[in-house]
Amino acid sequence: MYDVIIVGAGPAGLSAALYTSRANVKTLVIGKDGGALERVEKIENYFGVAAPISGCELLEQSRSQVQSFGAEIVEDEVLGISWTGTFRVTGIKGEYQGRTVILATGASRAKAKLFGLTEHEGKGVSYCAVCDAFFYRGKTVAVLGHGEYAAHELAQLLPVVGQAVLCTNGKEPEIDVPEGVSVETAGISAVTGDEVVEAIEFADGRQISVSGVFVALGSAGAVELARKVGAQVEGNKIVTDEKMATNVPGLYAAGDCVGGLLQISTAVGEGAQAAMSAIAFTRRNRA
Ligand SMILES: Cc1cc2nc3c(=O)[nH]c(=O)nc-3n(C[C@H](O)[C@H](O)[C@H](O)COP(=O)(O)OP(=O)(O)OC[C@H]3O[C@@H](n4cnc5c(N)ncnc54)[C@H](O)[C@@H]3O)c2cc1C
Repeated sequence: MYDVIIVGAGPAGLSAALYTSRANVKTLVIGKDGGALERVEKIENYFGVAAPISGCELLEQSRSQVQSFGAEIVEDEVLGISWTGTFRVTGIKGEYQGRTVILATGASRAKAKLFGLTEHEGKGVSYCAVCDAFFYRGKTVAVLGHGEYAAHELAQLLPVVGQAVLCTNGKEPEIDVPEGVSVETAGISAVTGDEVVEAIEFADGRQISVSGVFVALGSAGAVELARKVGAQVEGNKIVTDEKMATNVPGLYAAGDCVGGLLQISTAVGEGAQAAMSAIAFTRRNRA
């Protein structure tokens, strides 16, 4: 059991880990890659960095720094988070248990640009199987995706829905498709329906009738993970107070995933604040 699980190993997550580990709070950082910072060629506007430094160099130094204070860092992709007295974080490689969680997963990806998808959000289009599966009891739903995140969403849906179709939008499935799930690899041209979702249309002219569409393209971003555990989101941002606390006790968020000035300095400051809040929560609930 960890005191703090930090999802995201960018400036926000690693800054948070620096504070939690130095406060003797058992800390795990989970990151799937180097996030936005990995793509920064040259940083000239970060405090104290006199000579330009690359994002990769800054990340490497930050990782060594937090590990030197005892924080664990694992490379894994988080697929889901649930709360049952403590937080259970599900990754591709394993399950992790924590008293608190800090979401620091960076800016949410741009939404898939499929005709009819945005228009049907809340009217049959969902980004959270664990939240919405119940509404599709006995019905046919489509899951958009082709990787582990899609597999995770299918696993939540299959015990509840009538039938599920994996729609990969032109990609080959990268998972063992569960028994009973049919696969459509054709490109998708539209999600259609008058009031609510009724069908998916493919580029080859075919269509299938579905009552719901669950979007699980790529990996789970900040908004998807926040929704799974009941945290409030606005657009593609997680809503927090000034202490970086979400509406879910013990769940905090920091960095690009909460919006504002999308800069390293902001991410680092918010990571530190989220850490202080998580430390206080842990100490209160340990006593
Ligand atoms: C090209 C470019 C140039 C930039 N230049 C500058 C600059 O010069 N100065 C500056 O201050 N800022 C710059 N920025 C912005 C800066 O990089 C970001 O504001 C900062 O990296 C945000 O930090 P973060 O920790 O919130 O997110 P990120 O750095 O994006 O880190 C997110 C972390 O979350 C992880 N993650 C996401 N989803 C999952 C999941 N499902 N499971 C596990 N891990 C997950 C990622 O692997 C990553 O470790 C630039 C950004 C870009 C893209």
